[in-house]
Amino acid sequence: MTEIKPRADIVAMDKYHSPQVDVAVRLNTNESPLPVPPEWIADVRSAVDDVAWNRYPDRSARSLRQAIADRHGVSAENIFAANGSNEVLQTLLLTYAGAGRTVATFEPTYQLHAHLARISGATVVSGQRDSDFCLQESEILRVLETAQPHVVFLCSPNNPTGRLEPRRNIELVIANAPGLIIIDEAYAEFSDWSALELVTEHSNVVVTRTFSKTWSLAALRLGYAIAPTRIVEELHTVVMPYHLDALKQIAGERALSYVEQMQSRVAGIVHERERIAIGLEKLGIDTWPSGANFILFRPAVTGAVGQGSGSESVWQKLLNAGVLVRDCSTWAGLDGCLRVTVGTPAENDLFLKALRVAVGKGE
Ligand code: PMP
Repeated sequence: MTEIKPRADIVAMDKYHSPQVDVAVRLNTNESPLPVPPEWIADVRSAVDDVAWNRYPDRSARSLRQAIADRHGVSAENIFAANGSNEVLQTLLLTYAGAGRTVATFEPTYQLHAHLARISGATVVSGQRDSDFCLQESEILRVLETAQPHVVFLCSPNNPTGRLEPRRNIELVIANAPGLIIIDEAYAEFSDWSALELVTEHSNVVVTRTFSKTWSLAALRLGYAIAPTRIVEELHTVVMPYHLDALKQIAGERALSYVEQMQSRVAGIVHERERIAIGLEKLGIDTWPSGANFILFRPAVTGAVGQGSGSESVWQKLLNAGVLVRDCSTWAGLDGCLRVTVGTPAENDLFLKALRVAVGKGE
């Protein structure tokens, strides 16, 4: 028997993964370092008793979608929810990309955009950010004019650079893109501007959000899109029936009643982000302004920065000190860069201390 092989284009793909290492301070996957309110856990506990476990859940997740819609001042028909914003993105691509279609990204950006687009069968066209990770208007126009993409991705704040996309760039894309515009706002609450107001019934604009970061609920796997009604309807044709389980629907809805706690966690993280930025600056390390819960930085050392090089790298030295950060140094356009997620004040202290030693500026 010959062993069955995946599609040739899938065999050729890089695997998307973030190595998980068992370490005291994990600052590599942009999770919240702070727990959810204990009241929410009590809510979920009692909800377990109320679920009719023998029945399928509400297929349209009406109540959850209404609660999300209320938060954004839109209607439930403008909300599509799924298992993490990754599944939202995948469903958008299954619906609007696929074989024979083109998807545009502006690199470096969230790797899963191009990865999911390719899995859908689409061709990916990559525009490039400049050396400071800003997107130039001429590059936007070049990509849109030459590729005429069916789907364009923007990510604001952008992972892994942290940069917020200026409103004028988003408007330029909207004015010139022939197809769907997806603005991935997984980190929106950590910054002071969102493109949400650019989603209108007659636009082709979709904004995606997640419960994984600001809501401290990465384990829940819940994300959503705010989109024109007709797009939400199309997504419901494509997504699996009953894709959102009953407990997740209730848990997500209940989370939304703890807005104040969420905002205070976010304020704390933003404060810590600025403290880390100052710490990096004091060490003479290049960083870029971040509107998210992480910071990209480039240690200016003569030795190695990332894994997989002969000499002991900054990344490895941090790991030896019990601090795991994301190694982006081999990613296209991110030579010598590492990315640190903002942790608790104590974790951030440990990170800054370990980094000082790793770059040879302290004991
Ligand atoms: N978009 C971006 C830009 C992200 O960084 C992430 C998480 N790494 C996601 C989407 C996926 O988030 P979720 O946990 O909601 O699937």
